[in-house]
Amino acid sequence: MATYIVTRVTKEFSADGTHRHLEGVVTDADVHYTRKEVVDSIWAGNVWKTQADGYEAVIEPIPYCPQGICLATPYLRTNPDSPEKDNLENLDSA
Ligand SMILES: [Zn+2]
Repeated sequence: MATYIVTRVTKEFSADGTHRHLEGVVTDADVHYTRKEVVDSIWAGNVWKTQADGYEAVIEPIPYCPQGICLATPYLRTNPDSPEKDNLENLDSA
């Protein structure tokens, strides 16, 4: 099993256009993965972590984007209430 280090994220507009949410991630090897690819990899037993500005966090899958009634699925999070870069949503955009 492997450990993947995520340093940046990619975002997209939600289907209803009300917000931007994660589309995928980019690793320290500069490879882009979609949310689903990350979730499938986690279920397969690999570890996905973020590293940015001295913060580290483990990525975990959740069923849906937490904003409103957004049905983007599957979705990813680390520490969703953090204002720092241990929150996946706060990573720089690729
Ligand atoms: Zn959303």
